[in-house]
Amino acid sequence: MEYQLPKICANCTEKPAEVRWLIDQEDHSNLGAGLTLTGRVKLTSDVRDLSFYVGVCKDCEKELKQEGVILWAVRGIGCTPMFLGALGFAAAIKGTAPAGVPYLVYVVAMAGGLIFLLAGMLLVVKKDLGKRSRDGKKFTFRNKKYEAAFAKLNPNLVKRKYSEPAA
Ligand SMILES: [Zn+2]
Repeated sequence: MEYQLPKICANCTEKPAEVRWLIDQEDHSNLGAGLTLTGRVKLTSDVRDLSFYVGVCKDCEKELKQEGVILWAVRGIGCTPMFLGALGFAAAIKGTAPAGVPYLVYVVAMAGGLIFLLAGMLLVVKKDLGKRSRDGKKFTFRNKKYEAAFAKLNPNLVKRKYSEPAA
């Protein structure tokens, strides 16, 4: 789809856009499960790529990249105890876990990992810079000033009506 991007940064709207930033977005629809001939369960879904580019300034690009790295770290640190806890718990149920370790240890590991993960995500993750509707036809942006500038160039591609010029 064709759209025009404002020449300002989509994050701060203060500096000119210097680099392209990809907003990764996918739409999964018609999720379904079916049995294959071999008796295996197969999950199917229509995946539509709704990714699009915006322009950001160099400073914001750096910031956004850091956000991404921190997010990966948070996921890694939070998921590890969850995963190990789940493994241990499953082993304990089957009776193959090391004797003498109470179930509770595994449950605490799982819960701790989960809490860390959720708290970390809440602290670190801001809303995406922009979002595209499921039909791909409308855009919304985190920075409303940017959205207004975008609306000026592409009046039909935003959800909100902007009758006033961008403030
Ligand atoms: Zn910026």
